[in-house]
Amino acid sequence: MKYNTSKDLFAEAGTLMPGGVSSPVRAIKPYPFYTAYASGAHLTTVDGAVLIDCCLAYGPLILGHAPQPVRRAITAQLDLGWLYGTPTPLEPAFAKLITSDHPGMDMIRFVSSGSEATMAAIRVARGYTGRKDIIKIEGGFHGAHDAVLVKAGSGATTMGVPDSAGVLADLVAHTRQVPYNDPEALETLLSSNHDVAALIIEPVLGNIGPILPEDNYLREIREITKAHDVLLIFDEVITGYRLGIGGAQKKFGVQPDLTTLGKIIGGGLPIGAFGGRREIMEWVAPQGPVYQAGTFSGNPLSLTAGIAMIQYLHDHNEIYRDLDEKTRAMEESIGNKAGGSFVRIGSMFKYFFRPLIPKNYREVKECDTAAFGRFWEKMLSSKVFLPPSQFETNFLSAAHTDDDLATIVQAYMQCR
Ligand SMILES: *Cc1c(COP(=O)(O)O)cnc(C)c1O
Repeated sequence: MKYNTSKDLFAEAGTLMPGGVSSPVRAIKPYPFYTAYASGAHLTTVDGAVLIDCCLAYGPLILGHAPQPVRRAITAQLDLGWLYGTPTPLEPAFAKLITSDHPGMDMIRFVSSGSEATMAAIRVARGYTGRKDIIKIEGGFHGAHDAVLVKAGSGATTMGVPDSAGVLADLVAHTRQVPYNDPEALETLLSSNHDVAALIIEPVLGNIGPILPEDNYLREIREITKAHDVLLIFDEVITGYRLGIGGAQKKFGVQPDLTTLGKIIGGGLPIGAFGGRREIMEWVAPQGPVYQAGTFSGNPLSLTAGIAMIQYLHDHNEIYRDLDEKTRAMEESIGNKAGGSFVRIGSMFKYFFRPLIPKNYREVKECDTAAFGRFWEKMLSSKVFLPPSQFETNFLSAAHTDDDLATIVQAYMQCR
């Protein structure tokens, strides 16, 4: 397959947009394919290739591309207009749906992206506690704003170091980091630092994983944060409605103080949300003194798409069992091989080019990324599109058919 049209488009885009793309991960080398349309589990490129999609826009598309229930909701909303700048009945309806699914979430604020949600949740935690520092997990990703753009491997004993030009060292000095699956490191840090507002954590590391929590890890960090009176923020932008209704907090039975959501809850349109205990959320403006606002927040198109998606998942709860079984079958067929290991939770999965399953950022960095690069290219030639990085989670959707799965498994066996 030659991707000549894509190549030309990328050449032009590169003169108009930094790196030719709207978000860095899409700048696949030597050039990315350009998508013409998508439906179900398949992307069709402008060059006419039909690819099985295991990237799924990095997580939102749990029902696959353009699913009918979401499409119907969006179409119906178009007749009513798509931006008002006023409250709409969709907001309390969706707020009720999401808060009912998350017992620790008494109140919620809708925003337009996951980054915005974590940025606001951190501000609320600082406002509510009156403390300066936050702790994140090494290799955890919470979007592209200053407080969380901190180099991994820096910051627990010393201070955080910026991971991007333009981020002030003074600012990220207030972001400390601890390794995942290491409750003692957290305990040690909190015993010596009494100016910590919150720990923000992806309960399952999705952006370098999936990397799974060891037994009791999430429960232990809940106890430690509680004992030190530090807020626990679960960033469930990937895991929310991906690991099931109620996300990781339900699956692992651990209740955070604040939760951030995004991706799946927009039904494929831009969205984010943060919520938590009433006494904390009451600090958010205009009820409280922590400012947060957005022109597109709670916009009717994203909300109607999100409601349709979440309602559908409620009405077809068996989707989660089916996805789990499909991914388990993949794991059994693909399995481990000398030099590699297959990891999954629900419909999040990944083949790591490392003989043992990684447990944290340091271990995942030991993966053979050159081997992954060769594998990724062969997979694309076999018409399977995986996220173009060893460090991004792969996904299955309800739209993947048995035929798709057979193709994926066969491609893995041939390409790795
Ligand atoms: C994707 C992601 C974000 C950022 O969400 P955007 O909508 O891309 O801003 C934040 N946290 C996690 C865990 C994510 O996976």
